[in-house]
Amino acid sequence: MRDYYLQKMGITPWVLRPVSKSSCTKTLDILQKTVSACTRCSLHQTRTKTVFARGNPDARLMIVGEAPGYHEDQQGLPFVGKAGILLNKMIESIGLNADSVYIANILKCRPPNNRDPLIDEIQKCQTYLAEQIEAVKPSLILGLGRFAGHFLTMSTLALGSLRQQSFLYQNIPVLISYHPAYLLRNPIDKKKAYVDWHNVSLCLSKSVS
Ligand code: URA
Repeated sequence: MRDYYLQKMGITPWVLRPVSKSSCTKTLDILQKTVSACTRCSLHQTRTKTVFARGNPDARLMIVGEAPGYHEDQQGLPFVGKAGILLNKMIESIGLNADSVYIANILKCRPPNNRDPLIDEIQKCQTYLAEQIEAVKPSLILGLGRFAGHFLTMSTLALGSLRQQSFLYQNIPVLISYHPAYLLRNPIDKKKAYVDWHNVSLCLSKSVS
């Protein structure tokens, strides 16, 4: 009725348009669907759910882990088990929260019995992570553990060396630190990890975008 009278009076009414998703979110939605149907390696035969990402696709900090474990495979979300609880605490230690970072893994499917990822699995899966990084365009990437460290830095140095340097992945600054699952087994290294997280916070405060 209202629109009818406005039209009769020659008035074009303002219409609220639905908020459209950013192109980054659309790209990630499409990629997530592709991943959920992936059969590139044999891990698709044993997975319960693919594990794509959690967090904010507009985040300035992207965190990259290794591969889903039992809880992640059940829930379809990364870092939701014990290691995830520690990871959340570390994120909070620098004033961020789980909604202000974007978290993904190298592998999108759980290796049976949480064994290490195989080279073939990494090679087949890595384009997904590369596309996630390309879509999110974070200001800083934090790689957790040896596998993320080697993928992001293209180096095979030991983690202890990687965490003391900074790298670039496609022109995006990269820092490497201990994997939270390692820290649960080796709590003595938590102090060093907190130094790394402080460094993450410094890098974020220095970067403009
Ligand atoms: N370890 C990882 O590397 N990623 C997860 O999602 C869970 C545990």
